[in-house]
Amino acid sequence: MAPRSLNYTNIFWIVLAHVLAVVAIPFFSWNGLLLCVVGVFLVAPLGVNVGYHRLLTHKSFTSPIWFRDTLVTIGSLIGAGAPLVWAAEHRVHHRYSDEPMDPHNSRLGFWYSHVFHLFFNSSFQTDEAQWSKYVPDLMTDRYLVWLNKNWLWMAVLTLVPFYYFGGWSYVLWGGFVRLVCTWNIMWLVNSASHKWGYRNFATSDNTKNCWWVGILAAGEGWHNNHHAYQNCAAHGQRWWEFDFSFQLIRLFEFLGLATNVRKTMPANTEIK
Ligand SMILES: [Zn+2]
Ligand SMILES: [Zn+2]
Repeated sequence: MAPRSLNYTNIFWIVLAHVLAVVAIPFFSWNGLLLCVVGVFLVAPLGVNVGYHRLLTHKSFTSPIWFRDTLVTIGSLIGAGAPLVWAAEHRVHHRYSDEPMDPHNSRLGFWYSHVFHLFFNSSFQTDEAQWSKYVPDLMTDRYLVWLNKNWLWMAVLTLVPFYYFGGWSYVLWGGFVRLVCTWNIMWLVNSASHKWGYRNFATSDNTKNCWWVGILAAGEGWHNNHHAYQNCAAHGQRWWEFDFSFQLIRLFEFLGLATNVRKTMPANTEIK
């Protein structure tokens, strides 16, 4: 296989965000920290786990279009990336999990699956003809196609109200510390949850249920369960596998905003 070229744009943004998260330290304020914590542990689970992942990618429940668009827009605003490319790449991850076609194949090492895969150019991400094949159901939606092209400037614009209301403390803590924490927690699902933990299901990949990623990533760390039955909205299956994102979905079901919630794995899916 030919050596892959480096993606300097991705490297620049990822390194810059981490540097700014360190620059943030002397700008600490309690309100800035509060913005960060709410962003990481409530807004990110809403936008990424519930919106991008369980609803858009896996269709583990249905919801009114306006509510789906709201969740996915939240995911875009917090910097999770282009939603349709994200969904396409994630479907590829499930189809070829830990095989050469997997975009963050964990058999190439912890750091490759965590972040280094983003340091290389990927024709899949830039060539619509390639990624759109995996999301034909989403390509017909004009808003999602628009958001997929325009998410970045919208995410950058969120820094303006942060600056207006709280100056550099809000920009750095609510913007960049929050972004770096959110990214790394998302990435831990691809790295740590393909390396450490226990397995309920004998899947062909390296997926594990990693308890501390389960807590940090609001339920996404019960990753072996998820790979065993990817369309199930509940990633936690045993009583101790607390899944905050699923509790959010249950709340939305109670409010009439989520229907057809796939709560249990099929009867023939045996837990070891
Ligand atoms: Zn995975
Ligand atoms: Zn998934």
